[in-house]
Amino acid sequence: MAREIETKCIHLEEKEDSIHHYGAMTYPIYQTATYAHPGVGQSTGYDYSRLQNPTKEHLEKTVASLENGIDALAFSSGMAAITLMMELFKPGDHLIVDADLYGGSIRLFNHVSEKNGIEFSSVDCYKENVAGYIRENTKAVYIETPTNPMMNVTDIKALAEITKEHNLLLIVDNTFLSLYFQNPLDLGADIVVHSGTKYLGGHNDTLAGFLVTNREDISERFRFLIKTTGAGLAPFDCFLIQRGIKTLGVRMDRAQENAIEIAKWLKKQDIVGKVIYPGFEEHPGYEIMKKQARGFGAMLTFELTKKEYAFEILENVKMIKYAESLGGVETLITYPATQTHADVPEEIRVKNGITDCVLRMSVGIENIKDLLNELEQVFAKVRGE
Ligand code: PLP
Repeated sequence: MAREIETKCIHLEEKEDSIHHYGAMTYPIYQTATYAHPGVGQSTGYDYSRLQNPTKEHLEKTVASLENGIDALAFSSGMAAITLMMELFKPGDHLIVDADLYGGSIRLFNHVSEKNGIEFSSVDCYKENVAGYIRENTKAVYIETPTNPMMNVTDIKALAEITKEHNLLLIVDNTFLSLYFQNPLDLGADIVVHSGTKYLGGHNDTLAGFLVTNREDISERFRFLIKTTGAGLAPFDCFLIQRGIKTLGVRMDRAQENAIEIAKWLKKQDIVGKVIYPGFEEHPGYEIMKKQARGFGAMLTFELTKKEYAFEILENVKMIKYAESLGGVETLITYPATQTHADVPEEIRVKNGITDCVLRMSVGIENIKDLLNELEQVFAKVRGE
């Protein structure tokens, strides 16, 4: 019988091979750059760690299994994964990319990929007619759902019907919900991207990225590219991400519970104009989320009624940290306008709704009473009470 996701996070299904590692409960860290060959033309299965390393392979198999792919590749960061993925394309190719994406992805597309001759159309995939943007040279559609930071939700299955009809790749950055809550390959995507730095690692201590696919031809191409370009994840970092994944389920369930409480609390505050959380019934993507995901996640975005309020919140939080990143056990607040989305051209930022009053919160797994207590105190101070 197929195992449930929480179990698969802890036990790799294919073989319980701890017998080969003296019964060690955790997979060993093979801190080696190269491997001795038993004889001419022979190999232990590993030749050089840029090509493959057992610790990395174990992690990759775990992620492939959890994301229902045939292959997963581990990279030194999410951006390293996306940068390698862009090597699938050649000068003159055109990509449709979601208008609201992590700022680093937009920076890569605008300042690196465009220089390499790739053309882009920036489209609100959750509401616009994507088919209308397809050109003769279009090769792929790239989305996040929910998006960072405006939490727009795209129907992956409906979009996959369009991409399949036009023979385009559908690439989904699944960082925000993680493979615990959503599996885009099952919904018709061809490639899934993860910043493993976030929920998979889960402790704000390691950078990592993943590409996952269910297509043999893409897997082969990725394997060629990773050995050629060399941005694979180092063995010790693989161990840390593997350890993080073991507790993914309990962390995400708890973070989501906290996020729902905080989202409801924020909604009642007079200095907050808008709270965007896809677990609210009034969120336009709520029904799609219920259909395509197993949870709503622990990311939320809210808009203060004045920019000064946003600054004061950032300056007064103590246990909650004013920091970039997301998906860790610690609750973080980010100011997208000057942090994660600083390099997004201002007109696009404003069009997307990322105003100077917007804050993004990655809710952690602290006790909810402590989180609400701190927010009560900070908001009282901001109001001058
Ligand atoms: N994708 C999303 C949605 C992100 O939020 C981030 C980083 O914040 C990345 C990709 C990039 O990942 P990394 O920081 O691991 O390079």
